[in-house]
Amino acid sequence: MATVASTGVEEFKNATCAKLRDVRCPVHRQPPRIRFEGQSLREVTVNLSGCCSRLLDLANRAIGTRQ
Ligand SMILES: [Zn+2]
Repeated sequence: MATVASTGVEEFKNATCAKLRDVRCPVHRQPPRIRFEGQSLREVTVNLSGCCSRLLDLANRAIGTRQ
């Protein structure tokens, strides 16, 4: 049974994954890997990893955050 907070987190995760769906490294053709930390919408953070900094730039731009 989901709480309101975790529902918000799931929506955030889904929205973030949707934004990254079309992101691929132009050099290596790799998609970014995403990891979420935090149990509530207020504390959730997104950890991006990928083959190179260029992919991370594109991924950060796609989700609209700088890390
Ligand atoms: Zn790359």
